[in-house]
Amino acid sequence: MLGSIARSPLNVALRRTARTASPSFTSQKRFLSIHEHLSMKILNDYGIATPKSIAATTPEEAFQAAQKFGGKGMVIKAQVLAGGRGKGHFDSGLQGGVHLIKTAEEARDLAGKMIGNKLITKQTGEKGRICNAVMLAEARPPHHEYYVAVLNDRSTQGPVLIASNQGGMSIEEVAHENPDAIITTPIDFEKGLDDETALGIAKKLGFTSAKQEAQAAETFQKLYKLFREKDATQVEINPLAESKDGEVLCMDAKLGFDDNADFRQEEVFKLRDETQEDADEVEAAKYGLNFIKLDGDIGCLVNGAGLAMATMDVLKLNGGDPANFLDVGGTANPTTVKKAFEILLASKNVKAIFVNIFAGIVRSDYVAQGVIEATKALDMTVPLIVRLQGTKEKEAKKLIKDSGLKIFAFDGLDEAAAKAVAEAAAQK
Ligand code: GDP
Ligand code: MN
Repeated sequence: MLGSIARSPLNVALRRTARTASPSFTSQKRFLSIHEHLSMKILNDYGIATPKSIAATTPEEAFQAAQKFGGKGMVIKAQVLAGGRGKGHFDSGLQGGVHLIKTAEEARDLAGKMIGNKLITKQTGEKGRICNAVMLAEARPPHHEYYVAVLNDRSTQGPVLIASNQGGMSIEEVAHENPDAIITTPIDFEKGLDDETALGIAKKLGFTSAKQEAQAAETFQKLYKLFREKDATQVEINPLAESKDGEVLCMDAKLGFDDNADFRQEEVFKLRDETQEDADEVEAAKYGLNFIKLDGDIGCLVNGAGLAMATMDVLKLNGGDPANFLDVGGTANPTTVKKAFEILLASKNVKAIFVNIFAGIVRSDYVAQGVIEATKALDMTVPLIVRLQGTKEKEAKKLIKDSGLKIFAFDGLDEAAAKAVAEAAAQK
């Protein structure tokens, strides 16, 4: 997926930091991702052609759904929010999250091996993701597979349509090995894709005849319309196929939506499937905490994304490894701080906690109060390193001192980070 183009500067920076901290960092933030079978419905609402499909949540339902396709070739696809399903494998041993089948019995058998098991793909990391449903679709064998996506592009500061006639496979590989095979077309946000431009892209990709070129061009225009009207951050179709019977069809869809637009996209946001997200990240979001799990052993509680990144860098410079990224934001109060601690302590990896707050809007005495309450309520045994600066700093320091708890308090970031690293190392 070429999703990186669509990311906000904050997210890019955050992810870059997180990635250096943890190579297996995979989860999505700030964007809602919805299942393929739901995406197919949205595409159809926009008059975009897809193979006919039906979702099923049990092997029996899969059997019945398959019967509706009347013994023709079908494809059964694991509904897991990750790319690379075709080449993935299940923890049950089954190879592949996408299978071509002929009979309803095969549908039942494969659904039984997929549902309730985890699919591991190159995007999910080793843990994989639970498969709670499958989608059955008519097979429509492809004559050729293309790639098309609408994303936001930083350099043109607007949407772009990305297309390639080398679809089906990983687009990152195409981008790496054969960048000329990718056509990037900036789109005027208001005007959308005009007929001529859309048809020009289709002609460059090459289809069997003018009929398919026209269908492809119309598909591009409708994909952009969907992108704009639904506040999408990503509309990725891989493959967009010309079927052997001469139709242009979207055979896979990965749609992402801007979380900031949830208030005006209620219908779309109802489609969220929290089983596909990290449980701790979901819980954190409920309290307005921006939390991302990493692989290290120092839990960080910080306010502001910039300070969070600086904190992670300083820990790394001191030889440490952050266990997470947790931004309590500007509205931190004793309750949210306590919640943040609960989430940090739920991870067994955490060997020390580093609280680094620069209080501008937030009050550091509130943070201190939350830290103290949490330490008492949660019977905390891991060492706690605290650096509080800014608004109500004096009050905060007094609170910590008077609490009688074993909290290491610092003024300087570097000393505090060094202490956190040393304490974490000592716990091993
Ligand atoms: P992904 O691996 O998660 O991207 O899953 P896809 O839905 O793209 O499936 C992987 C491959 O399976 C595609 O590249 C196609 O070759 C094939 N495939 C997917 N959907 C269909 C379909 O509806 N009909 C047929 N014949 N093949 C399909
Ligand atoms: Mn695909």
